[in-house]
Amino acid sequence: MTSSTELPPIFEALESQVRSYGRNWPVVFDTAVGSRMNDVNGRSYLDFFAGAGALNYGHNNPALKGALIDYLQRDGVVHALDMYTSVKARFLEAFDEIILKPRNLDYKVQFPGPTGTNSVESALKLARKVTGKEAMINFTNGFHGMTLGSLSVTGNSMKRGGAGIPLVHATPMPYDNYFDGKFPDFLWFERVLKDSGSSLNEPAAVIVETVQGEGGLNQARAEWLRGLSDLCQRHGILLIVDDVQMGCGRTGPFFSFEIAGIQPDIVCISKSISGYGLPMALTLIKPEHDQWGPGEHNGTFRGLSPAFVTATETLRHYWRDDTLQRSTLAKGERVEEALTQLAGESSGGLEVKGRGLARGLGFAQAELADKVQAAAFERGMLMETAGPSSEVAKLMPALTISDDELEEGLEIFADAVRSVIP
Ligand code: PMP
Repeated sequence: MTSSTELPPIFEALESQVRSYGRNWPVVFDTAVGSRMNDVNGRSYLDFFAGAGALNYGHNNPALKGALIDYLQRDGVVHALDMYTSVKARFLEAFDEIILKPRNLDYKVQFPGPTGTNSVESALKLARKVTGKEAMINFTNGFHGMTLGSLSVTGNSMKRGGAGIPLVHATPMPYDNYFDGKFPDFLWFERVLKDSGSSLNEPAAVIVETVQGEGGLNQARAEWLRGLSDLCQRHGILLIVDDVQMGCGRTGPFFSFEIAGIQPDIVCISKSISGYGLPMALTLIKPEHDQWGPGEHNGTFRGLSPAFVTATETLRHYWRDDTLQRSTLAKGERVEEALTQLAGESSGGLEVKGRGLARGLGFAQAELADKVQAAAFERGMLMETAGPSSEVAKLMPALTISDDELEEGLEIFADAVRSVIP
């Protein structure tokens, strides 16, 4: 299935060693539609990776493409820093009407720069400014991005090592189920907060993912999230939910924290917010915390107009009712069923993980997950691994994947898993 053609030597010759995904899938991609990517030799790959969560609506979604082409065709402004533009107004109106108001959420919207880590950096800075405190609480196996502030609250030791300087001002706490349910939730967290001898610096904020996408598809229960929100309120700590990967419908509802009925102080959104894979990010801020001075946090790319166009179209097309949410949950259950069956076939050592359409199969023998990824690629399917030892085979198809393609992918995946299990 995979291409046997040599790669153009320019990648090896010129592109930095830091390149990574190209090493997993050593072919040259050219076109992509929906849940399929095609290489230059015309071979097609079923995409269960979805741009690491940036392509929840598939590649070149026709419902969005027309609006984008029309906008460019009429010479709509492409770059305008954070000037007022007609497309920014339309996006904000749609976001308010379709996302915030129906959920009774009151947030100011900051455009922090176009990536997830830009949103996280702005959230950490703002929390420090608002509270006058510098310490952060993060969680074991959390992932928040590659810039220094985000890295300081990220768990993975290999990524942290890349910083080259000490990463400070963050204290890790155990994520939900870190001790397999052996201890009451927040036992340690509450204890060190109350104990004046614990040495914990008073935290400005807690930053958390509701499902840890990079950390291995560990999911926090709704009651754990409610407990965390309650703890933050009791101790005057701001709650930041990093919904960069699990937001925009990945787990079913638009915001992944909706299942818990909580209202975080700050929410980080990026990846699929443009709907089209274009760079865009939001930092949602409770109005009382919107204490930025004008330009206090800026950047050249804070709201790319083509991304506003496709983002607005995405909200109008997919989020006016709960059709997409229901279909995501149903497809997610189907994936869970298939993974549970696979886990049942093996003599142990496989764990079914995740929620909605963010799912994973954890391998006690970590190296098997990478082998599954390679075996899936040989069979014409793209999927990646997650977790501190890359021990989880991760399935994140587009939310818009057809039922037939979902079944096809699950069959390829099952075949790949069976081929590597000793
Ligand atoms: N937060 C989370 C939860 C993420 O999954 C990621 C990216 N994988 C980021 C932040 C960083 O986003 P970006 O790569 O766009 O900087």
